[in-house]
Parts: sequence; C-alpha cells; structure tokens
Amino acid sequence: MNHAIKQATTRLQVLVPAAIDGPFTYASQVPLAAGSLVGVNFANRHLVGAVWPVAADMAVPEAKLKYVSNVLDVPPLPRELMQFIDAVASFTLAPLGAVLQLCGLAHAAKLVKRPLTAPDYQPTLPTLSPEQAKAATALAAQKTKPILLDGVTGSGKTEVYFHVIADALAAALDAQILVLLPEISLTHQWIERFTKTFGGAPTVWHSHLTPAQRRKHWQATANGTARVIVGARSALFLPFQNLQLIVVDEEHDPSFKQEDGVLYHARDMAVMRARFAQAAVILSSATPSLETLLNVESGKYIRVELPQRFGVAEMPTVTLIDLLNEPPERGEFLSPTAKQAMLQTLARGEQVLLFLNRRGYAPLLLCRTCGHRFQCDNCSAWMVMHGKNIAHATLQCHHCGTRKKVPDKCPSCEAEAEMFAACGPGIERVTEEVRNMFALDETAPRLVMLSSDEAVAPEQWSAIERGEVDIIIGTQIIAKGHHFPRLTLVIVVDADMGLGGADLRAGERTFQLLHQLGGRAGRAEISGTVMIQTSQPQHPIMQALKRHDRNAVMKLERQLRQQGNWPPYGQLASILLDGVNEQNVLRAAQQLAREAPHDPRITVLGPAPAPLSKLRGQFRFRLLVKADKTIHLQRTLSGWLTGKKFTGVRIKLDVNPYYFL
Ligand code: ADP
Ligand code: ZN
Repeated sequence: MNHAIKQATTRLQVLVPAAIDGPFTYASQVPLAAGSLVGVNFANRHLVGAVWPVAADMAVPEAKLKYVSNVLDVPPLPRELMQFIDAVASFTLAPLGAVLQLCGLAHAAKLVKRPLTAPDYQPTLPTLSPEQAKAATALAAQKTKPILLDGVTGSGKTEVYFHVIADALAAALDAQILVLLPEISLTHQWIERFTKTFGGAPTVWHSHLTPAQRRKHWQATANGTARVIVGARSALFLPFQNLQLIVVDEEHDPSFKQEDGVLYHARDMAVMRARFAQAAVILSSATPSLETLLNVESGKYIRVELPQRFGVAEMPTVTLIDLLNEPPERGEFLSPTAKQAMLQTLARGEQVLLFLNRRGYAPLLLCRTCGHRFQCDNCSAWMVMHGKNIAHATLQCHHCGTRKKVPDKCPSCEAEAEMFAACGPGIERVTEEVRNMFALDETAPRLVMLSSDEAVAPEQWSAIERGEVDIIIGTQIIAKGHHFPRLTLVIVVDADMGLGGADLRAGERTFQLLHQLGGRAGRAEISGTVMIQTSQPQHPIMQALKRHDRNAVMKLERQLRQQGNWPPYGQLASILLDGVNEQNVLRAAQQLAREAPHDPRITVLGPAPAPLSKLRGQFRFRLLVKADKTIHLQRTLSGWLTGKKFTGVRIKLDVNPYYFL
C-alpha cells in the first residue's frame, strides 16, 4: 500500500518591521523557536522579521500561506526583548511592527565576514574616595530596584559607575552592559575616557554609524562579543544576549525623549527593559528629573548620593545681573558688569564661556519703514537672520530649514534693505560684540563660536580643554559633559529665554540647563563664577540657582504640577492633528473633542492651535488629555481613537509628551 505523504508544515506568527499592529501567519518547513529571525515576503518587499511568541492563527487557509524564505544564522531574539517590544508598543500606542523596526533586524541579513572577537578589557581604575567607594558598594548591592546616582557635577559619578561596570564585566564572562548618553556629541569624550580606563573601546551605537559599522556592532551585540555598548536612545532596542546593567547618564536630559516615529522616553523604557532582562539600572544625574525624585520618594527607586565635588574643586559662585538695573549699552547684550568680569578673567589667563541658546545673528529682522517682519512662508515663525551684513546675510527658518538671501527691498513697502533692522541677539551677534571689545591684533583673545550649525570636531573640543582658546561662545551644545579645566567664568546672556512658554517642565529645565552650565566653571584647582543676566532676578528659579538650591526648585515644581494634576501626578497625552487645509484639520480636531470619553477624571483641553500653528505648510491643532492616575490612559485613548481617520489629516499621539511646540 502506498500512502502519499503530505509535507509537514508549521504555522508561525511573524512580526515584520513595518507600521502594523501585529504578526502575520507564515508557513515553515521546520518548526522555529520564538525569536528566530526569518526572511519573508511582505507586501512585495523582502523583510527580516521575527517569529513572535504567540499562538499561530489557524484560520488562514492553507492555500493562502506563504512560506518564510530563509532563516537567518543569528541567535534568536531573547524573550526579554520581545516582551519589551510588546510593552513599548502598549505604552506608546505605536504599532507593534514600528517598535520592532527600532531593533534594526535588517542588520542581521548580511553576515560580517571577519569573525567578531570580544575586547579584552583590562580596567585600571583610580582609587575611589571613601564617599565614592561607599556609593559604588551601594550600587553593586542593589539588583532589583532602579538606582538614582545623585551627585553634583564633578563628584565622580562616572568614576563610580565605571567601577560598577568593571565589576559586572568581571562577574560574568558573557555579561553585557549598556550605557545611554543623551546626545551623540557627548559620546566621543565618553569613549575616550572609557577606552583609557578599560584598555579597550566600547561598542558604539548611534545614527551616525556607517551601514557596515552598524551591521558589525549589531551582530557583535547579538552574538555576545560586544560587552559594553554605548549609545543614544536607539541602543535600547539592540538584541543583547545577557544584559546585566543599564546606565542612563544625565537621566534628566530631555533629549532622551524620541520625537518622531515611536514616541518613547529612553530613560523610562530603560527601566522597563531592565525589568524584563532582570538587569540592574543606574540613572545618573546632578539635577534629577522630578519624575525620578518622586520615584525615590515613593520607594520605587533607591537613591545613592555623592554630595561633594571630587578633590579640591568647589561649587562656583553664582551672581545674578539685573538687566533692568544694569542694562547693556544700546544695541548691546552684555552688561558692563559682565564685560568687566570677562576682562579680569582673561587678564588672569583663564577661560570665559558665554552661553546663549540662539543660533544665528538675530532672531528677527524687520523693516523700520513699515514694520514688516520677515516670516517663514511654511511655518508660523520668524526667519532668523544669519550673518551680520545685510548684503550677504541669509534668512533661515529653524523649524523647516528654509533659507534665502535677505531681499534687496521690503516685500511689503519696497523700502531699501538699509531700512531693515536686526532685533535681538543670536550667538553671532554676541560674538561680534565681544570682538569689538578688543583691538584687532595679536593681543586679541582667541575666540571660538560653537553651535549645531557646524559640527564640532573632537580635536576642537580637545583644544578648548587644553586652554588653546580664551573665549567660548555657544548654544546648548557647550552645556553638557565637557570638562574645561581653565574655565572660570560662565556668562549666561539671556536666562529668561527658557522660562514661561508652553512647556510644563520649563522651570525644571531652565534650572537643569543653567545649573549644568555652571558645572562647567571651576572644575579644577581654580574656583569659578557664573553670572546670570536676567530681567527677573526675583524669580524663584533664579534665586535657587544663586543658592545652588535644587530642593527649592523641585519643591516649587512639585507644587505647580500637583495643583494642576500635571505629570508625574496626573497623566498627560497630546493629540496633534495636522494637514494642509486648516479648516479640515480644525473640524477633525473638534470632532475628536466631541467624541472624547466622558469621565470626571479625564479633562480634554482644546482643540487649540499648537504654539507652532503652522509647520512645513501643515496647519496644526492640538488636544491635550489630562487624566487622573487611576485611569488606564492607553486603554482610554485607544478606545477613543482607534479607527478614527480623516482625509488629509494626520493624527500624532504622544503619551507623556515632552515637546509642546
Ligand atoms: P561626574 O560624572 O560626577 O561629573 P567625574 O566622574 O567626571 O564626575 O569626575 C570629575 C573629575 O574628577 C574627573 O576629571 C575625574 O577623573 C576626577 N575624579 C573623580 N573621582 C576621582 C578619583 N577617585 N580619583 C581620581 N580622579 C577622580
Ligand atoms: Zn519654516
């Protein structure tokens, strides 16, 4: 008797990296473990997906099943990572496949030729001070709760967590450690310091790597040869095999929030991944976020403190310059007091840093004849003037990137360009003002202007650190991380800029930024001074800065947020609608508002035009959803928004937003 043997087929659910909510059913000749990476055909594209750990869908008819095309020769995704992906999708309400996309599975498709080898780290760590040693011991002892490593700038937080990393590496030969930094610009310095201390380089992960580097680093993480991985947000989604420790450095930094695609906060998600991976997590900061401080207070997190600067370095003296009492000369932006302090500092051979968080020459150009203001055609924003000479200057929109020459005539009254007036300062204008203080000869101080307009080469940072520059003028890129031993005077040109506005964390952020900036001054033997120019010297944030009183700021912030039931006391989500037709966008927003869930514990604010009411030609309206802690916010939002579609209108949902423009 002859029986026809039917080929055995296994059904699998495969999640592909695309904006879809769940896995699809495929067939395979052989059973495959959950997490296996497979090549599949999806919507006429070849994609690398992952076998998802859910029961196969038997309803899809056999004839319709597509076979997976190949199985990749890499370790399957760890279960912990798949749980994490599920959790990120549930929290952010992003499609599951969009979260998988963050894992970069495509990097597994082309195997690197040369075998990957683990670096041979030989740490040579400095001896810790007694306080530091105590902190390191406390960190090593805590495995279950996240730890806040809370210490002033220069107290040795990095040294201390380096010790913890060294211990973790020694404890298990396959242990992997992830260090998240808020910005790529900070990685270079960190890598140098790490390499010097550990005798080997870490594995780097960020968006500036070449495709070949990415493949190599991804695969080294997947096969366990990468032991210490340092990166920006996205490194959180790498396929670690044995993740033992995550360090989030500068945990308070707002750049940990991802602002496009999947809108996740890398600090919060790091805590989540650590929980699934049963890894330890250290959040390090000199100015922790209110969220983290409250988690310490409620006992969810443990705090380890380093209250003093290492060695002889002291906290800088902070003085407030009242811009109303001591105004700069007409057309200038530095008060006489600030200028005098500059001259004295330079005379002693020390460095001065001027901070102004505004690129370009002037934030606004207007016509003195008719009052016309140069606006971006695509955005509800002024064009920023770059370059001081009207004949050569450009107008740039910092929101959409539009740039054009300053026109010869006013578009509204046809007045000649000499009637145009630049209003307010940008760093180019402050640089000009500083240059004008000195004779233009070899006695002039060496000056450097730094902003995100031009990439700062690592060598440039090193030259500043070696003291080969006398005056540094820059935007926020100079605020973080860098250690300039000869810097003793920091001048904040306009401290009022960050206060107010639409951002619920404005006060906290201003304090963090200015405090951090102050941390650049007097880090070595010489003590430092910070001069803050403000027109509101009585403002509680300014007063707190003067006294180095973080607790006062946090107390105030807590009160404000508690009263308003803002995060972290209440929950918040932003629903931003945009489209080219303003009326359509508004109508869609109004309809959503009408269909909002009725619950006394939920308040829907708006719709209102977003502060940036037009961006890249799209009109923008927003609803803010405030909810009590007792509400399951995600369930409420998806019940309300699922299936809602409006022609020509996009809906962007941000759970726990940090960006309010
Ligand atoms: P933080 O991360 O808190 O800003 P760092 O770890 O960068 O502090 O330390 C500040 C400076 O002091 C660095 O130059 C560091 O090398 C030095 N330092 C800190 N602790 C020690 C130590 N125990 N021995 C030698 N140098 C130290
Ligand atoms: Zn624009």
